Amino acid sequence: MRRALFPGSFDPITLGHFDIIKRGITLFDEVIVAIGINADKKYMFSLEERKAFIEKAFEGESKVKVVTYEGLTVDFCQKIGANFILRGLRNPADFEFEKAIAHANRHMSTIETVFLLTSSKTSFIASSIVRDIIRNNGNYKKFVPDSVRIK
Ligand code: ADP
Repeated sequence: MRRALFPGSFDPITLGHFDIIKRGITLFDEVIVAIGINADKKYMFSLEERKAFIEKAFEGESKVKVVTYEGLTVDFCQKIGANFILRGLRNPADFEFEKAIAHANRHMSTIETVFLLTSSKTSFIASSIVRDIIRNNGNYKKFVPDSVRIK
């Protein structure tokens, strides 16, 4: 079983994340979308909301599971039997950041990080931009799956 963990904050899930997960399930038997819990971070959406948005977006897709975790990503991978970490790359800043994390993770474990290059249509989308649009009452709907709706 080729199981990959796709870790992130998903505050909220965007069409960029959606695209990486969709393409991830063509490469892996299972993609576990793992929402990291960081007590020091302030989020726009609660953990329950972020989880529900992703679950609804992949309703009926048995290869996608959504979980939450605390602690080191590699420790969590070992706990659930995931041999791969899936990450998306948008730009050189992502590359530099991801490179350091992937090297550190390789020093701590045998888990491989697999990178997918962002699709050209979603390359500019970031959760931080979506949050900014929401805060300013803009039309955020083009950047997120239909499951992301503000009450
Ligand atoms: P983090 O808090 O770890 O940065 P994010 O939720 O922002 O979590 O992102 C999780 C993963 O999704 C990261 O690998 C990030 O590079 C990737 N990602 C985010 N937006 C996009 C996008 N538009 N295209 C491709 N990958 C993306």
